[in-house]
Amino acid sequence: MNWLDSHCHINDKAFKDDLDDVLQNMADNDVRKAMLISSYIDDYEYGFSISHPEIELKHSLGIYPGDVDDVSEELFEEFARRFREDRCQAIGEIGLDYYWDKHNKQRQIEIFKRQLLLAKELNKPIIVHSRDAIQDTYDLMKQIRVEGVMHCYSNSAEMAREFVKLGYYISISGTITWKNAREPLEVVKAVPLNRLLIETDCPYLTPAPNRGKRNEPAYVVYTGRKICEVLGIDEEDFKKQLNENYHRLFRL
Ligand SMILES: [Zn+2]
Repeated sequence: MNWLDSHCHINDKAFKDDLDDVLQNMADNDVRKAMLISSYIDDYEYGFSISHPEIELKHSLGIYPGDVDDVSEELFEEFARRFREDRCQAIGEIGLDYYWDKHNKQRQIEIFKRQLLLAKELNKPIIVHSRDAIQDTYDLMKQIRVEGVMHCYSNSAEMAREFVKLGYYISISGTITWKNAREPLEVVKAVPLNRLLIETDCPYLTPAPNRGKRNEPAYVVYTGRKICEVLGIDEEDFKKQLNENYHRLFRL
């Protein structure tokens, strides 16, 4: 069984100069699947030109909460048109971020809600970003039920259980490998194995021992191994479970 990265941004400019090496490094480390997340239409289109014979890349597009002030009705329709494409596997990352932007909460909620409704109408899974906004995120995701994953989950184990009750998946990033990690360790113990995913969110959130360097999909292995260690489970079994979860959620 192979590893996978359920959330990466290898279409980011951080990978412009050595993308082929990054892809080869993925394959060499047995990371054979990845979900490529785009927040801009240009990046999404460019994403389809990225390929490697041993890697299965899938694509997701969504309006990022930090960008809602710049989204005209016309641009929203441009996104919506692409959500309808078969090659758009998921809608995301979408959600709420009150850490960076507090001034436009209502606008964030409105754009998140409209994308949730589209996901429901189109029967597509969502990938959710939530920072300093967990209660509002939860309320909306409870109100409008679709399938989806809380990406880079960074809240309490108790709240993770609540999302799982609604049927959502919880994705763990490299922060679980960091020295000061406490909450992520509790979260992986609280979430049933059939609702867990792992991700890099690269180029951000680089796991130990590479913290400080640019992150890349190959490093998801550190996160996966750390979870196996914390839960005392077999690596092969965990990889198999991750692949099942990934396929079930993204309908692959
Ligand atoms: Zn991301």
